[in-house]
Amino acid sequence: MSEKIVIIGAGQAAIQAVQSLRAEGHAGPITLVGEEAYPPYQRPPLSKAYLLSQLERPRLFLKSDAYYGEAGVDLLLNTTAKAIDRAGKTVELTDGRKLPYDKLLLTTGARVRKLRCPGADLPGIFYLKSIADVDALQAAFLPGARIAIVGAGYIGLEVAAVGAKRGLQVTVFEAMDRVMARAVSPALSDFFMAEHVKAGVDVKLNTGVEGFEGSGKVERILAGGKSHDVDLVLVGIGVIANDELAREAGLAATDGIVVDRNAMTSDSAIFAAGDCTRHYGREGTLLRLECVQNAIDQAKHAALAMTGKPKDYSEVPWFWSDQYDLKLQIAGLARPSDRLVARGDPASRKFSVFHLRDGKIAAVEAVNAPQDYMIGKKLIAEGRAVPAETLADSAIPMKQIGV
Ligand SMILES: Cc1cc2nc3c(=O)[nH]c(=O)nc-3n(C[C@H](O)[C@H](O)[C@H](O)COP(=O)(O)OP(=O)(O)OC[C@H]3O[C@@H](n4cnc5c(N)ncnc54)[C@H](O)[C@@H]3O)c2cc1C
Repeated sequence: MSEKIVIIGAGQAAIQAVQSLRAEGHAGPITLVGEEAYPPYQRPPLSKAYLLSQLERPRLFLKSDAYYGEAGVDLLLNTTAKAIDRAGKTVELTDGRKLPYDKLLLTTGARVRKLRCPGADLPGIFYLKSIADVDALQAAFLPGARIAIVGAGYIGLEVAAVGAKRGLQVTVFEAMDRVMARAVSPALSDFFMAEHVKAGVDVKLNTGVEGFEGSGKVERILAGGKSHDVDLVLVGIGVIANDELAREAGLAATDGIVVDRNAMTSDSAIFAAGDCTRHYGREGTLLRLECVQNAIDQAKHAALAMTGKPKDYSEVPWFWSDQYDLKLQIAGLARPSDRLVARGDPASRKFSVFHLRDGKIAAVEAVNAPQDYMIGKKLIAEGRAVPAETLADSAIPMKQIGV
């Protein structure tokens, strides 16, 4: 309980780990190393209410400044960890300092995947991961501006929705044949596509980006064999796990630091949680999740294991996205081979799609249907079989199905 714990990466998983370590009775020193200028903050609002200027910056922070002193946490901001010496049990920082540890937790998250086409380095091309990124984007994110969004994933579409609301002229370029193709079922893609078009967003599917042109800043995007005039560009094409520190230290890592069900890496003194990890999901396959749920739950399990109370991690993953007045909530992990069952009418803007596998609910996608989502999530956790006809019949209340 008096062991020295060092946590690298000061984000969502890190702050949860701090809180859980103290709650589990860890009384020893905790050092939290973060390369950003800010203490841990929530990222989801960055592409939603914060970009829309409906949420003040202080509301992003997960804890008050006073918390760190009260919790006995040595918070080192603007500080980057460079290497781990596993034999000597120290972490080397880029400023040359060495931090000794008894147990180490890696919560280094993920970084944005960058475009590599000609002109991709021109000013006026933005990415969205941090407070600093939003601050840079805001100066150009002005009513009337022509914004090209590369990638119709969650982030691209959330920014498209905010842009349309703010009066920008929004065009989305997507290489695949439907929006959010990797994340949702075709019915959801069609629904969200129609909503964006209704809001005035020009969504160009099957349109890969070939490059950018401009003198001094981006002025044109070349995509689908055509040139389009633009004032700014936002790229949202996914993230890459920050697993290099672990890999260079010889820990198992392939597109994410591999951890067991107790968030333990291949070194029993080193744990990892959140976007930087690859873990065994409920079905036993290795997967990498980029969501708040995984950051929080895995960090809780890491804290339990680090304090000698290991408990297998097998929570149902969940995620949400806000676009216009639509709240999309997803629980579970879908597979292309799942049987899809629709509940409710998309025209009512309140409906859901259940994914059945071997008769059991494997995943649910709900739009403005929180009860379908909540009860669906519970049924997934319980591994309950529900007849497709029952789920499809919206005259049968979800509460009744969940009993
Ligand atoms: C714009 C945006 C919108 C999102 N919306 C949603 C949403 O609606 N729902 C949802 O579930 N999830 C959403 N997410 C994802 C969610 O925010 C992440 O899954 C979550 O933040 C992961 O937490 P983490 O602690 O693993 O990583 P992070 O919170 O990213 O923290 C990692 C930290 O580690 C730091 N770091 C990395 N390497 C080092 C190093 N060597 N030394 C020191 N520090 C280092 C990084 O700079 C970073 O600050 C969104 C993410 C973004 C960017």
